[in-house]
Amino acid sequence: MKKKSNPGRAGHLEKIDQTVLWHPFTQMKAYARIEPLIVEEGKGSYLKDIHGRWYLDGISSLWVCVHGHRKKEIDQAMIEQIRKISHSTLLGLTHTPAIELAEELVKIVPRGLGKVFYSDNGSTAVEVALKMAFQFWQQSSRRNKKTKFISLKNGYHGDTLGSVSVGGIDLFHGIYKPFLFSTFQVESPYCYRCPLAQTYPRCGFGCLDLLEGEMKRHGSEVAALILEPIVQGAGGMIVFPKGYLREARFLCTKYHILMIADEVATGFGRTGKMFACEHEKVSPDLMALSKGITGGYLPLAATLTTDEIYQAFLGEVQDLRTFYHGHSYTGNPVACRAALANLRIFKSEGVLKKLSPKIRVLSEELKKFYDLSAVGDVRQKGFMVGIELVAERKTKTPFLEEERIGQKVVLEARKRGVIVRPLGDVIVLMPPLSIQEEELRKLTRVVYDSIEAAVS
Ligand SMILES: *Cc1c(COP(=O)(O)O)cnc(C)c1O
Repeated sequence: MKKKSNPGRAGHLEKIDQTVLWHPFTQMKAYARIEPLIVEEGKGSYLKDIHGRWYLDGISSLWVCVHGHRKKEIDQAMIEQIRKISHSTLLGLTHTPAIELAEELVKIVPRGLGKVFYSDNGSTAVEVALKMAFQFWQQSSRRNKKTKFISLKNGYHGDTLGSVSVGGIDLFHGIYKPFLFSTFQVESPYCYRCPLAQTYPRCGFGCLDLLEGEMKRHGSEVAALILEPIVQGAGGMIVFPKGYLREARFLCTKYHILMIADEVATGFGRTGKMFACEHEKVSPDLMALSKGITGGYLPLAATLTTDEIYQAFLGEVQDLRTFYHGHSYTGNPVACRAALANLRIFKSEGVLKKLSPKIRVLSEELKKFYDLSAVGDVRQKGFMVGIELVAERKTKTPFLEEERIGQKVVLEARKRGVIVRPLGDVIVLMPPLSIQEEELRKLTRVVYDSIEAAVS
């Protein structure tokens, strides 16, 4: 498939990519067997490679891009900021974009979250939330007792060691086990493969019983429950049954356990509302944001929390209540400007309002997928979609791992001008919120054809 225009340069870049670059979440031996796709430009919902071929970005450049690539208002906001200053620290100093963004964030997040702590990626936002929750109890009257966390199976919270400790995906996290702190891990509401189907033939929310059981037994040792509200993303686009999140919140309050909502993937419109917690009117005690916060432009993250938690950190310096955490690029001003422009677009373009008819189109398109015998389950919440492929639908038998069925689908889609990336055997669709209806139809059509081609 190598192309004409500039073979020398393309060939050189490909070679360096293969010999020098180590890609994230990538088995490099397998990667070396396929022609690398070198992205050079983007526009709207599309990416252009070094050969001038355009691809529809079906996963928002790994779940971050919100209003499309090269969005004029965000480009402009960043350029204006760069002309003033590109970086200044928040340790001991402050700066305009960080202040203005904090002001905007507390207006839109669930009630009660009035304090904003910046960092620079989803993993650090979670890490901060874990440390805050831990230290909060250390500095309260229940001192030293509450040092553990409850996490959910299939949860994903990032790749730093704290975030991995509360992660629940064996494939990613298993090997590090001796390296991690232990948590109380509870089954997640993965209804398609409900592990409780035997004991609860009809859904009696057995997963909530398990959660409450864990809280009853260990509540006095538990600092916080951490979960991805409404949709577990990297675990396979697992959509919670209605009521689960609200009930989990209720249980946290009942057992004096903080709730950490990891909205890194679900935040900024992805599920059809600004934040997933809104679907069940839930206010967590801590909330982690990143991915879509800058519209997908620059690394930035924020951990939001309540005044109650914040207060527990106040004291004289010698009281040792300070939160000793911060990164070199915490709250970078250019990133904050991008985030401010991102939020303004949500308002000025009525993004969420325009999204609901597109969500309906997507739901409609997804129904067809059950015509494919390899499709076991189709899960959707807003613009987060997971299509779980199975070797046999009736028995829900997975494909053999070595078949790499998800990867096959991805390569078929790439041939057809669409970029997607699977989570194992789950094909993920996560288009930019700005995608046009026609592009959305193209995305589903191509993915449908690609699944058909990959399994035949
Ligand atoms: C992606 C993700 C993270 C980690 O974010 P990074 O920016 O990749 O470190 C954490 N939590 C959830 C729910 C995510 O989807």
